[in-house]
Amino acid sequence: MEHKYGPNPEAGRSEEYPFVLIAGYRVGTPFGSERKAINYCQMWNEHVSVMEKLEGIPHTLSRTEYEAACRRLAVEEMEDSDINGRSRYAINNGEFYPRLDGEEIGGYRPEHCQKMRLASWRLLGIVAEQKMERKAQPVHPPKPVELMECSCGHTVAKALVMSASLGTSCPDCYDEMSD
Ligand SMILES: [Zn+2]
Repeated sequence: MEHKYGPNPEAGRSEEYPFVLIAGYRVGTPFGSERKAINYCQMWNEHVSVMEKLEGIPHTLSRTEYEAACRRLAVEEMEDSDINGRSRYAINNGEFYPRLDGEEIGGYRPEHCQKMRLASWRLLGIVAEQKMERKAQPVHPPKPVELMECSCGHTVAKALVMSASLGTSCPDCYDEMSD
């Protein structure tokens, strides 16, 4: 893997940015030491080059799409019950980036950032699937219609049964059943 961090070829013309990163970031001198600046460049180059591999992957993933993406990128798969369970808070709120720890590269490794980004897209998929499931279920499931046989001999819905002088009746026979 080629990293393009390092001295800015244009440094002669822009002295304040002696280092450049592949993603076009320019790194100034507030690092205090060249080692710190180079490590900063390196960690971002690594982060960006690993995260770039996620380009083109939809941001709402079905389980099948998620597993395929993990396999293709050799990312450790997480279970749906984990993504939408104990890891849900971290996936939603974690800031998965590298950072300098003194002069050295610290923070989250790019592979972990990649794993969590994919998990966040699977989480969006899970939420979308749950929404669809709720929509598919009627809010008030229809009650089965209760039927009743009337004295007139017809069987009709209980709510339609009428009371005539000769007994219970369906609406059609009401006149005949009324004496
Ligand atoms: Zn009848």
